[in-house]
Amino acid sequence: MWKDFTNSLSVDVKLHSVGIPIVCKCDCCSMGGYEDLNHVLAIGNFAKELLNRYVVPKVRIWGQLLGLLPVVITWLPWLRRYRARVEGISESINHVWMQLKYWSAGIGDKLKSTKQQSVRDIKILKDLQVHVRGPKQRSPCLVHWSQLIARRMKLNVDGGSRGNPGPAGVEGVLRDLDGNVKMAFSVSLGNGTNNFAKLLGLLHGIQIDQEQGFVDLDVELDFWVVVHWIKEKRCNTWYFEDFWEEVMEVL
Ligand SMILES: [Zn+2]
Repeated sequence: MWKDFTNSLSVDVKLHSVGIPIVCKCDCCSMGGYEDLNHVLAIGNFAKELLNRYVVPKVRIWGQLLGLLPVVITWLPWLRRYRARVEGISESINHVWMQLKYWSAGIGDKLKSTKQQSVRDIKILKDLQVHVRGPKQRSPCLVHWSQLIARRMKLNVDGGSRGNPGPAGVEGVLRDLDGNVKMAFSVSLGNGTNNFAKLLGLLHGIQIDQEQGFVDLDVELDFWVVVHWIKEKRCNTWYFEDFWEEVMEVL
């Protein structure tokens, strides 16, 4: 399909489409069939056998692997056909089936690095008899607490968006040495990304406190990306440059 979109179909397919048949015999069927894209990817014996082996499990929670596997299932018969034609290597259905498992396991692992695998993804991998690894263990993080110096204030601030991007907002609370709340704020930012809300959260928090006369601040925030930018003294996201300069001015 993508070859059709990019106008890079093979010569025999192009000629066939304008009504000039060139008989290319496939090597995936015992009788030999006309080897066009449809045959290689869908109706040839090899493609049919691969699709028949793969059965979509019926579970209620959808996963991401299900959406990605058709790409792999489509790619492998094409790759096999290329190797047979160009390299003279004839791969068996079992060989290609093993490749499918290998790719599925790899994709499954990559998906898991961002989030927990869904029930359906796990079911797919188990049906393919691919070993499902447990979730990645997170190493504990050591946290220090230190008491405020007298006359300083502590600002806790957080920002976020519902969706990324989506409706975004920031909120914060300012407390004194004894934990008494001196001020709290909440600001809507309109539409924005999560990182945008977090950076603006820091900026708004400091600006609002300074406007109220609180200038000696200890700021606590859990925006790992923003903390990293501040440590490095540079923001590597170009479209935050304006806000970033403001943040550096108020810090
Ligand atoms: Zn065939």
